[in-house]
Amino acid sequence: MSETIFGRIIEGEIPCHRVYEDDHVLAFLDVNPLSPGHTLVIPKEAVPTLDKLSEESAAAIGRVLPRIARAVLQATGATAFNVLQNNGPEAHQAVFHVHFHIIPKFDGKGLGIGWEPMTPDAAAMKALREKIAWAAATETAKG
Ligand code: AMP
Repeated sequence: MSETIFGRIIEGEIPCHRVYEDDHVLAFLDVNPLSPGHTLVIPKEAVPTLDKLSEESAAAIGRVLPRIARAVLQATGATAFNVLQNNGPEAHQAVFHVHFHIIPKFDGKGLGIGWEPMTPDAAAMKALREKIAWAAATETAKG
């Protein structure tokens, strides 16, 4: 459990600015926030990326995220926010314990997004839809 800094926070070896905790989930302020109120919501289950997370932890996180988002909005006065969840170094992940960022956007601060959309052709879209739908069905069948 203590392989990452977040594991050590969960175990109480390292302090954090805790805003919420239950049996499966911990939420605390990001130590280097993009905006005031930037909060991290993490499962207590120690897995590096979202695709590795158990359904039980995923459900627990899903239940709590809107609650923490409302709390962040209420506390900061922000009316807009981003939820960011990085998986893998190429995707900007630095701490290899699953975490969701809740980042309020206000006063010009918050998440900056580089968004460069592609225009794929219809055949590529169809092929990808089939592959992903098949893989999703297989995952679902695994339970
Ligand atoms: P990511 O790039 O998605 O892995 O983000 C990791 C986040 O963890 C960064 O925003 C860091 O500022 C934050 N972080 C790292 N160490 C701590 C810590 N000890 N307490 C709170 N936040 C932390």
